[in-house]
Amino acid sequence: MELFKEQQIKIYNSLTSKKETFKPITEGYIGMYVCGPTVYSNVHLGNVRTFMSFDVIFRYLKHLGYKVRYVRNITDAGHLENDSDAGEDKITKKARLEQIEPMEVVQRYTVDFHDVLKTFNFSPPSIEPTATGHIIEQIELIETIIKNGFAYEVNGSVYFDVHKFDKTNNYGILSKRKLEDLIHNTRELDGQSDKKNPQDFALWKKAEPQHIMRWPSPWSDGFPGWHLECTAMSTKYLGEQFDIHGGGMDLKFPHHECEIAQNQAAKGKSPVNYWMHANMLELNGQRMSKSTGNTVNPDELLSGNNNFFSKAYAPSVIRFFIAQSSYRSILDLTDDGLLASEKGFYRLMEAIDNLETLKASEVSTIDINAWKQKSYDAMNDDFNSPILIANLFEAAKYINQIKEGIATLSSNDLTTLKSSIHAFVFDILGLQNESKSNSDSDKLAGAVDILIKLRQEARVNKDFALSDKIRDELAEVSIHLKDSRDGTTFSTN
Ligand code: AMP
Ligand code: ZN
Repeated sequence: MELFKEQQIKIYNSLTSKKETFKPITEGYIGMYVCGPTVYSNVHLGNVRTFMSFDVIFRYLKHLGYKVRYVRNITDAGHLENDSDAGEDKITKKARLEQIEPMEVVQRYTVDFHDVLKTFNFSPPSIEPTATGHIIEQIELIETIIKNGFAYEVNGSVYFDVHKFDKTNNYGILSKRKLEDLIHNTRELDGQSDKKNPQDFALWKKAEPQHIMRWPSPWSDGFPGWHLECTAMSTKYLGEQFDIHGGGMDLKFPHHECEIAQNQAAKGKSPVNYWMHANMLELNGQRMSKSTGNTVNPDELLSGNNNFFSKAYAPSVIRFFIAQSSYRSILDLTDDGLLASEKGFYRLMEAIDNLETLKASEVSTIDINAWKQKSYDAMNDDFNSPILIANLFEAAKYINQIKEGIATLSSNDLTTLKSSIHAFVFDILGLQNESKSNSDSDKLAGAVDILIKLRQEARVNKDFALSDKIRDELAEVSIHLKDSRDGTTFSTN
C-alpha cells in the first residue's frame, strides 16, 4: 500500500490562512507549480532557501508514493524592475549594461542556477519551462481575457482591468487586500501611463524601439507581462486547476494575486487549491535581496570568501541550517547559526556512521515504530522539518545508547531504524554524508595552510625567492595570500 494512504498531510494554505488536510484533485497524483528565478543575476541564498523548501516538499510527496508533476519555470522575459509595470525589463537592462545579447544573460544565469541546484543536491523538477518558450500560449490567454471583458488595449499594450474584475470577483483574495485600500494607497497616475487605473497590470507591453526582446502579437511587437507567464505555463502543464502553487512570500502580492485574477478572468476558476509561501531569508536582520545588494551567494558561503562569515560551510551544512527552521518562519543567516548547524550536522553524520556498526539483540528496549511515526507526524504537519530534525537527534541518542550497551534493538527494529533514518536524512531532507574533512573547500583550506606554513619557514630562513614564488604561483591559480599583523589569510578571487 502506498504510504500516502497511511500518512495524512496538513498544509498551511495561504489562501484560507489555515492548516488544511491535503486532498489532491486526483488520488495519488499531485500537480505542483513553483515560481522559478528571474535569470538576470546569480541566485543568492534567499532564493536557495525558497527553492530548497519546495525541494524538501517535493521529495517528501514523492517519498509518500505520490506521482508528482513538479513544474518550476525560468523567467527569461517580461519581469520589469518595478512591480507596477514600470522600469526596464531586468534582463534587457543587464544585457544593455554588459553589451551582450539578452539570451546570453539568460543562458549565463540559467547555467549558474543549475550549478547551484546541483551543488545543493536539489531534485530536478519534472518540467522547467521558460517564458520565452510560451509566447503563443500567453497571447492566446490575453485574447481570452479580452474576449471575457476583463482586459483592454491602449496604444499596443494590453492591461488587466482590476476594477472591472473586482466587481464580480475578489481581487485581493490571497493577499487579503481590499481594492479600496489599494486605491487609497497608490499615488495618482502621472499622466504617463496608458492604464485606466494604477492598480491595473500589464498583460502585454508594446516594446519601445530600443527594446530588443520583442515578439509579434495582435496588438504590437512587444513582450508579455510577468504575471502572465506563470498562468500560461501552469495551465499548459498542470491544467486549469491544480493542487499546489508555491513561491517566496514576496510573490504573494502582486504576482500570485494577479495569477488568480488572470485564471479567474480567463477560465472562471480559481487555479490552485493550496497556495504555499516560503518565508524570507535575512542577512543582518534585513531581507536578502538582489535589488538592495544585501546578499550572499552560494559560492561565497561555500568558499568562505565573504565579509560576513568566519569560515567556509559545506553544502549539506547549509541545507541542514535551512531545514532547522520551518519554511514559514523568517530565518536570519548568521555565523553562530551556521556554526551550531555544522556541529549538529556532523554529530548526526557520526551517528549514521555508527548505525552501520550496531548489532541486533533478541529484544528491543526502544519503541522504534513510535519514533518512526512521530517523525512522519512532523513532516505531515505542514512539512515541519525542525521537529523531524529534533527526532533525528533523538535517534542519534538511541544509537549511542545501543553502542554503549545501555539499550537494545531487535533485528527487525534495527532494520526499520536504518531504513527510516536513511529515508528522512538523505531522501527527504536531501542531505549528503559529507565527512568533516571531505568538503572541497576544507581540502583547499588545508592545502593552502600547508603552503602558508612553508612560506613562513622560507621567510624565517631568509629564502625570499622561495616565499615570493609560493605567493606568486598561488596568485596565478587565483589564490591570493594576504599578510597582516595577525598572520596570513587567503582569498580565491
Ligand atoms: P526572483 O529570481 O527574484 O524572482 O526570486 C526567485 C525566488 O526566490 C522567488 O520565489 C522569491 O520569492 C524567492 N526569494 C527572493 N528573495 C528571497 C529571500 N530573501 N528569502 C527567501 N526567498 C527569497
Ligand atoms: Zn510566477
